[in-house]
Amino acid sequence: MINRRDFIRKTGMGAAAISLAGLTDCGTSPAKQEIRMTGGKVIDAHIHVTPVKVKKALEVMDDNSVRYGVVIASISGDDPNQYVGDKAFYEIIEAIKPFKNRLGLHYTYDWDLAGTDPDFFKKAPDMLEKAVNAGAIALKNLKQLGLTARDHEGKLISIDDPRLFPIWERAEKLAIPVAFHTADPVAFFKPWNSENERWDELKLHPEWSFADQSKYPPIEKLFEQACNVYRKFKNLQFVSVHVGGYSENLKEVGRWLDEIPNLALDTAARIGELGKHPASEGHDFFTKYQDRIMFGTDLAFWNGCDVQGAGPCKDFTLEEDRKFYDIHWRYFQTKDIQFDHPTPIQGNWKIDGIGLEPEVLSKVYWDNALRIYKLDRVLG
Ligand SMILES: [Zn+2]
Repeated sequence: MINRRDFIRKTGMGAAAISLAGLTDCGTSPAKQEIRMTGGKVIDAHIHVTPVKVKKALEVMDDNSVRYGVVIASISGDDPNQYVGDKAFYEIIEAIKPFKNRLGLHYTYDWDLAGTDPDFFKKAPDMLEKAVNAGAIALKNLKQLGLTARDHEGKLISIDDPRLFPIWERAEKLAIPVAFHTADPVAFFKPWNSENERWDELKLHPEWSFADQSKYPPIEKLFEQACNVYRKFKNLQFVSVHVGGYSENLKEVGRWLDEIPNLALDTAARIGELGKHPASEGHDFFTKYQDRIMFGTDLAFWNGCDVQGAGPCKDFTLEEDRKFYDIHWRYFQTKDIQFDHPTPIQGNWKIDGIGLEPEVLSKVYWDNALRIYKLDRVLG
């Protein structure tokens, strides 16, 4: 359990930044603790918002101390009727214009264009520059790259394909971070059957199974391709979302971070997986890489319904969304044991809190995203 006063002092959060319902200053038994962050400075570095949901997103953010939300991709529409690319980007950027100090947006390519437009690779850098001029704060590459995106001749496009280099070069010139969603949970690359530990999720989304090796590259190959890009473009700041796509193997992610100084991570939709590791391993991982990890939830506000990181798309109440955030605070801030993780569909297990020190929390919750996404220009 962190010391409440210490946390407030060290993070510069105002009085009552954290209220621990039912917890007196003398403490109480862990089972009775309910942890809440009721004010102060948190950046959620990974959310999804469509134009019709801006108002709701801001309400939920206000209710959970989220001062700023990074809309991680230009995806709009309903789940599952989403669309990506320019149409989504210009729609969302217009909708969030009045809220520049609350929401920022990544530009996202529609990788289908690489298959349908023979000039896509030539046009892509200018598409990015146009988006940045219109307000994009970064570029996010969806997981289709490397996994399913094909070129005009029907060939799979690898993440380190040289035809993409002009895009990364332009991002470097524009001085924006480039985020990658690489691969997916390891279980999605394992056979699609009831033995799979993510069977509930795969049953709901059969299209998330990448087990067929005649169609999809193995997961290790995707990580290798992404690392090749990070290594080659040393002056670019990369963000590998969902704990590098490999929260099952923190040792390997740690090796990437050790070797590649221009790589950062976000925690989106991976508290369940993170919490599967012994709490001491999680604590040490976040402590060692405290300057490289950003808090993110993957809370998605689609047109017709919302998704809490993973799981069903429904109209969650403010209270349900508060519960979702609270579990995150509990994981990061306390040493409570064996509680439910925020994305039950990902698997039926309990997690332990890692009780990060206040100075580490303030970096993960605020400083790192502020620096990486250069948010001082809007947050002052
Ligand atoms: Zn996401």
